[in-house]
Parts: sequence; structure tokens; C-alpha cells
Amino acid sequence: MSGAVVWREVVAAVILCDGQVMLCQRAEDVPYPLQWEFPGGKVEEGESHEQALQRELSEELGLTHVRVGRRLWSSEALYPDGKGFRLHFYAVEDYSGIPTARSGIAALRWVKPEELLQYEVLEGDREFCIVLPWLLHPERVDADEVFMRVALLEAQRAAAEGEVPVGAVLVRSGEIVARGRNAVERGADATLHAELIAIRQASAKLGRRLLECTLYVTLEPCPMCAGAIVWSRIPRLVFAASDPRAGACGTLYNIVQDERLNHRCQVRSGVLAEESAALLRSFFQRLRADESGVEA
Ligand code: ZN
Repeated sequence: MSGAVVWREVVAAVILCDGQVMLCQRAEDVPYPLQWEFPGGKVEEGESHEQALQRELSEELGLTHVRVGRRLWSSEALYPDGKGFRLHFYAVEDYSGIPTARSGIAALRWVKPEELLQYEVLEGDREFCIVLPWLLHPERVDADEVFMRVALLEAQRAAAEGEVPVGAVLVRSGEIVARGRNAVERGADATLHAELIAIRQASAKLGRRLLECTLYVTLEPCPMCAGAIVWSRIPRLVFAASDPRAGACGTLYNIVQDERLNHRCQVRSGVLAEESAALLRSFFQRLRADESGVEA
């Protein structure tokens, strides 16, 4: 993360009614036209999160007497133009008025949380759409699939940046503490694998032993990353696709479970493996189609 980024605080409301949540479609004459989003907006100078949400829900939907409930999730989104957004999602179950599309909004829709992924939502809301069904009903959802889907989102972002699509997230007590995506081309550095980026980010926050973390990776870690998993004492690894060319967590080697080393890690493999493999396949197909692309 660059120090030059100016972070803007953004609040968004998860308006809940009969197990459904409200999505708003942006108007045609605003930035990111017709994309879907959770209602909300920027926190103005001197406002609390609650005040900002109350103002936004009044302007966008005509709601009054909004009571802001618990914070459900926070995440950061860094846009290519250098703008950073810190997004805070709050539950809202209590308000007066009937939601009506007003300024900047083209349409409203009540959506089942598990159907959110079918909507073309703003970049900053994508991760939240993945985790929301699990936040609302943790007992019904496989948490490993949820966090793997967030890792796949990182992998997709890597692909968009011209990198082999591999993504990783580190999770502690249900919270994402670090994330990474492959950056060897952009950084011109062969060690900038998704896992190492996430491990370094987490170590900067938590110290060199990541004792209560689970690492989610979209591709089986290589020998270098498997070594880093051992050294940072990560107790649990979940990966999607196996890697017949470099996999060191069961395929070519099993470094993370080698009895001769002083730390071993619990492994679950194959979670969303097909999604990850499809992403890798389409990346390499595109690369072959584009003669002027980077070398594999
Ligand atoms: Zn690696």
C-alpha cells in the first residue's frame, strides 16, 4: 500500500426485511452508471458513521428515523486512479417510510443474500456480497468456500493486471487480516507470490508467528510459499486447485506436513478448485491468443 493514498470513509446500509436485503441501481448520469450497490455514501467532515448513514438514506431513499444497527463488515478498496475507500457496512432494520428511488438512484430491488453474486455490483461491494450470506447465517454456509471466493476475487484482480491469477487471504477469528495477489510481473520480483504478500502483510500487524490464522489460496502453494507457511507457523491451509507443476503441499512435495520439520499444518484442498482452474485456463488461453502479451 502506498503512503500517498488518501482514504475516504464510506458507509453503506444493509437494509434487512424478511430475509432480503436492498440493492440500489445507480442512475445513468452518475459515475459507474447502472451498477448495483448498497445504499450509502461518503462520510462528510465532522459526521459520525451513524449520522452519515441517516443523511444518505434520507437523500437516496427518503427514509426517516433510521436506527443504525451493528457493524457487519469493513474492507478497503483501492481504485486504479489512486483513490482509496474504507467501506463500513451496517445493518439497518428499523426506519420509517417506504424506500423510494431518489437522487442518483435508478431502481431498487429486494434481493436474497445468496443471490447477490448474480448482480453486477460496484467493485467496493463485491467482497461484501460474498461474505454477507455467511455473516447473516454462519450455520448454513461453508466458511472455507466464502473465504476462498474472496481469494478468487483477488486472483481475478491479478488477472486484470496481467498477472497469473492467484489470490490469497489470511483469516483470523472470522476476519480477513491480510490479502495478496500475484505481482511478480508488476513488481519484477519472482518472490511476489500471493501467499508471501499476505504473510508479510499479516506479520506486519500480528508479528512473525501467525498462530491462529487460516491461509486461503486459490492454487496449491509452491516450495517457497510452503516454506513460508511453515516458518510463520500458520496452523491451517485451505487451497483450491492442485498444481502439478510446482505444488508443494501434497502434489510434488508435502512441505507443510513433513514430519522432519518442526511445524506441521492442517490442509484442506479442492475448495472451489474448478473455479480456480477455470480462471487459470482462461488466463493462459488469452495470453496465447495475444502474441504481444507477457511471457508465461
Ligand atoms: Zn509460491
